[in-house]
Amino acid sequence: MRVGIGSDVHPIEPGRPCWMAGLLFEDADGCAGHSDGDVAAHALCDALLSAAGLGDVGAVFGTGRPEWAGVSGATMLTEVRRLLAEAGFDIGNAAVQVIGNRPKIGPRRAEAQQVLGELLGAPVSVSGTTTDGLGLTGRGEGVAAVATALIRPRA
Ligand code: MG
Repeated sequence: MRVGIGSDVHPIEPGRPCWMAGLLFEDADGCAGHSDGDVAAHALCDALLSAAGLGDVGAVFGTGRPEWAGVSGATMLTEVRRLLAEAGFDIGNAAVQVIGNRPKIGPRRAEAQQVLGELLGAPVSVSGTTTDGLGLTGRGEGVAAVATALIRPRA
């Protein structure tokens, strides 16, 4: 088995739709970015690519790849799943933690886990935390996410 890590941070952009962990949160401002700003999806993509030794989100979907501009986190996860399958890996499980004041993950945790789990074809755990008012996430300037993934070579 192989483990990977990923993280992401984006600034919050007032008025932008808030996509997080594959869900649209109507009651929060979203994150700015080259894509839909779903830092949870991006951290998961990075963790999966890391586990497989396939580089990172910047290399696969970055600003040097204009065909991916504005892409959704869901589409990115689907592409990463395809890349891992192509490289001969199955996904064991993945976990992602969203760090910030909003959106509140807890009330929609089950929904997020179902959506992300279906996209990856493997169990995905979703959690949330705050930084007690400290730092860029505590001041509400941005949202961060960290993720891990476990994958295995296809038998
Ligand atoms: Mg990102």
